Amino acid sequence: MKIESLDLPDEIKRFYENSGILELYPPQAEAVEKGLLEGKNLLAAIPTASGKTLLAELAMLKSVLNGGKALYIVPLRALASEKFRRFQEFSVLGMRVGISTGDYDRRDEGLGINDIIVATSEKTDSLLRNETAWMQEISVVVADEVHLIDSPDRGPTLEITLSKLRRMNPSCQVLALSATVGNADELAAWLDAELVLSEWRPTDLMEGVFYNGIFYCKDKEKPVGQPTKDEAVNLVLDTIKEGGQCLVFESSRKNCMGFAKKAVSAVKKTLSNEDRETLAGIADEIIENSETDVSSVLATCVRSGTAFHHAGLTTPLRELVENGFREGRIKIISSTPTLAAGLNLPARRVIIRSYRRYSSDSGMQPIPVLEYKQMAGRAGRPRLDPYGEAVLLAKSYEEFVFLFEKYIEAGAEDIWSKLGTENALRTHILSTISNGFARTREELMDFLEATFFAFQYSNFGLSAVVDECLDFLRREGMLEKDPDALVSTVFGKLVSRLYIDPLSAALIAKGLREAGTLTELTLLHLICSTPDMRLMYMRSQDYQEVNDYVMAHAGEFSKVPNPFNIAEYEWFLGEVKTSLLLMDWIHEKPENEICLKFGIGEGDIHATADIAEWIMHVTAQLAGLLDLKGAKEASELEKRIRYGAAPELMDLLDIRSVGRVRARKLYEAGFKSTAELAAASPEHIAVLVGPKITERIFKQIGRREAVSEFSDIEPLEKGSSD
Ligand code: ADP
Repeated sequence: MKIESLDLPDEIKRFYENSGILELYPPQAEAVEKGLLEGKNLLAAIPTASGKTLLAELAMLKSVLNGGKALYIVPLRALASEKFRRFQEFSVLGMRVGISTGDYDRRDEGLGINDIIVATSEKTDSLLRNETAWMQEISVVVADEVHLIDSPDRGPTLEITLSKLRRMNPSCQVLALSATVGNADELAAWLDAELVLSEWRPTDLMEGVFYNGIFYCKDKEKPVGQPTKDEAVNLVLDTIKEGGQCLVFESSRKNCMGFAKKAVSAVKKTLSNEDRETLAGIADEIIENSETDVSSVLATCVRSGTAFHHAGLTTPLRELVENGFREGRIKIISSTPTLAAGLNLPARRVIIRSYRRYSSDSGMQPIPVLEYKQMAGRAGRPRLDPYGEAVLLAKSYEEFVFLFEKYIEAGAEDIWSKLGTENALRTHILSTISNGFARTREELMDFLEATFFAFQYSNFGLSAVVDECLDFLRREGMLEKDPDALVSTVFGKLVSRLYIDPLSAALIAKGLREAGTLTELTLLHLICSTPDMRLMYMRSQDYQEVNDYVMAHAGEFSKVPNPFNIAEYEWFLGEVKTSLLLMDWIHEKPENEICLKFGIGEGDIHATADIAEWIMHVTAQLAGLLDLKGAKEASELEKRIRYGAAPELMDLLDIRSVGRVRARKLYEAGFKSTAELAAASPEHIAVLVGPKITERIFKQIGRREAVSEFSDIEPLEKGSSD
C-alpha cells in the first residue's frame, strides 16, 4: 500500500515521501485496512522496529487535522523524550507538540495549546486526577508498550488511566501498541479494538543458540572464529569484522561493567583512527559530566570502543553512550535489560549472556519469553543491517536444547492484569471517587467493570478487595463515613491530587501527629517509611554500621521495631540506610563518596532524590492542610533534596546552571547570595566557575551589561558535577 493512496492531506504524504517512506509495511497496511484512519480502535501487536510509531503518527495527524488532540502515553521518561523529539518534526506541518513528565500535582493547563502531547502513564493519571480541562478534548490516545499492563508496578496505573480516558471521551480513538503477547486477542477485545497481529519484520531476524563454537539457528548454522578464550567476546569480534555492532545483555550492573572491560583489548584493535578520535571526544565528555570512579571506568572503555549502560548511570552519561553507539563509534554496549524496554537502539547482533534473573522468592529463574523477545527484537538495524542476529549462549547440550525450546520455538506468554490487590487498587479507588467517576459503591463497581482485570477475571474477584480499600480510606479520614455514598474528604482529595499512595499519606499524617521533636533525620526517615519510597538494598556489610547508627539516634525515629522481629527490623534498617543516603546528599557529600559508601551509581542517587523530593513535598502539603507540625521544615528539606545541599546555598542554587559544587565554590569565595553576585565583578566570578557559566549567571540575575569580554579567563579548577 503506497503512502500516496492514503486518505490523508497531501502535505502529510509529502512529509513521509520526503523522508523516504513511500510504501507501508504489511502490518501497517493491515492496520489501515482495519480502520486506523477512520477512527477505529486498534491493537497492533507486532515486533520492535516494524513501524508501530508510524501507525501512531498517521492516526494522530489525521485526528488533529480534523480538529482533535492526541495523547501519546509512554512507560518511561526517556522514551517520552525520544518520541517528543520525533514528533517535533511535525512542526513543519503546523503541529504543536508538548511533553509532560514532571511534577505530579500540577494541572499543566498550558500544555493544552498543543496538538500532540506525550506523557508517561503516571503523569497522565495525575493530569486526570487534577482535572486538567484539555483532557476532555483528546480525540486519539496512543498507549505505547501496552503489554506492560502485566507489570505489577506500572500496569494498574496504565489500565485505570485507559479506562478513565475512555469513559470520559467515549468517542476517542484508542491505538494500543504492544510487543507480541500470547493473548493479544483478549487485550484487543477489552479495548473494543481491531487486532493487527504479526511477526513481520523489516529486517530478517536470525534467532539461535551458540554452542561449542557454532551459532545454531532454525535453518542455518554458522561457525564463529575463536581468537580469544571468551565466547561472547568472540561473537562480538565476529560481528565487528562484518561491519556490525553488538548489544550484550547481562543480568547485573557488575557484569555489565565486567564485560565491557573484558572486551576492551580485543575491540580496541578493530578501531580506525577516526573511531579513536571520536571516541576520545566522547570519553572526555563523560569525564566532564561526572567525576565518579564508575564514569572513569566508562570513559576508559569508551576510548576502546566498548561501553556499559544501566540505571546507575546518570541520564547525560547514558545519552552519551547511546549517541556514540548510534553514530557507529562505540562497537558494543553491555547493558542490563532496561535498554530493551523501549529505547530505539538496534544493533546487528544481540547477545544474551544471561537468561536468568534473581527473584527474592525463587532465586535465579529463566526470564519470561516476552522479555527475551524484547531483547532479541533489538537485533538488526532497519535499512542499515542486512539481517539481525539474536544469540543465546549454552554451556551444555542440555542447556542448548532447553534454550531452543523455551525461547526460539515457543511463543510469548499471556499477560495478566495486576490490578486485583489492595496495594494496587487503594490509590485508584480514591482518585476515581475524588474525580467524581463514582459516587456510590455500585457506580464504583460499574467503573471497575471496564478494567482489564474485570475483563479477565470478572468483577466478582474485585468486590472483597474494593471493600477492604473503602474501609481503609474511611478509617484514615480520606472518605466521609456515610455508608451509602462515596464522598472524598478534603484530605482525601488532596491525597488524590498529590498522587501519593493513601497508605503513604496515612503514615505521614500519623508520623507528624505523633512525633516529638522533628529533626532532619525524623523527616527523612518518615518519607523513607512510606511505600512510595524506593528503598536501598541492605548488603551484609551494611548491617553493623546502620544498626550502630540506629542505636545512637534512636530518639529521632518515630518508632524502632524490636530487633528480634527480624523481618520487620531488617526492613526498618533498609529505610534507615536510604535516609542516610539522603542525609549525605543534602550535606553535600561528594557523589563519588556516596556511590562508594552505599555501593550505588550516580543515577541511583538522583532517582532516590527525585522520589524523596516529591514525598517531602507531599509531607509539607499534608502538614499544612491538617495543621500538623513540620510544614515549614518539610518544605525546606524538599528544596535541599532537590539541590543536594546545605541551607545556606539555597539562594545561589536558585540560579540555573549553578549546582551544588559551583554554589559551594562561590559561597566559600564570599559570594553568598544572588545579591552579592549581582555586585561582583564578572572577571572574579569567571575565575571561579569559568566564563561560560559566568555569562549564564549574569544573564539570569539581570546584569546583561556585565557579560563582556572575559572568555579567555580559565577557571581555577576544571570539572564539577554541576
Ligand atoms: P517500532 O515503533 O515498531 O519499534 P518504528 O516505528 O520506530 O518501530 O520504526 C522503525 C524505523 O522504521 C523508523 O526509523 C521508521 O522511520 C522506519 N519505518 C517505519 N515504517 C516504515 C515504512 N513503511 N517504510 C520505511 N521505513 C519505515
